[in-house]
Amino acid sequence: MAAPFQLPALPFADTDLAPVISAETLSFHYAKHHKAYVDNLNKLVEGTRFADLSLEEVIEESAKDGNAGVFNNAAQIWNHTFYWNSLSADGGVPSGKLAEMIDRDLGGLKQFQKDFAVAGNTQFGSGWAWLLHKDGKLSIEKTANAETPLTGGGTPLLTIDVWEHAYYIDYQNRRPAYTEAVVTNLLNWHFAAENLG
Ligand code: MN
Repeated sequence: MAAPFQLPALPFADTDLAPVISAETLSFHYAKHHKAYVDNLNKLVEGTRFADLSLEEVIEESAKDGNAGVFNNAAQIWNHTFYWNSLSADGGVPSGKLAEMIDRDLGGLKQFQKDFAVAGNTQFGSGWAWLLHKDGKLSIEKTANAETPLTGGGTPLLTIDVWEHAYYIDYQNRRPAYTEAVVTNLLNWHFAAENLG
């Protein structure tokens, strides 16, 4: 049987996010790390009931079952695809309902940028910072390792990957330099608005 899960194409060229994220970082992050999660999941689900489910269903079911191997790889596939879509060199600024909610719930765009970077910087070890729409409000949260808001934490609008592999080539140990540069220059507000609906 053909492997059921695919590595989605990047939504930009690998030079488009430079100098904030270099082509070299993208080539490792996407073609090695993201691809490895796809390859691992396809091996793990072969001949199991997971092979017939959507990626989102695999995440939900493996979380319920406590199947860490399947969950970690499936959630990391989803989180990375969401991260690529959260980035753009031409991401615009929040407008309309999204801008109003950022003002109302998060103290405005400048405050959001500061707090989103801090969330990424203070995630101990590997993980993710998220802008979420939850219970009618926007909030900033962080998750560890492969954990994802899909398992009940609200609707994600944007994410930043703060695993070391996301920044080490460009920033070495300076995670705050990476998060600040991404938050200031690369967030895709068109994608966030689509997710808000
Ligand atoms: Mn990553």
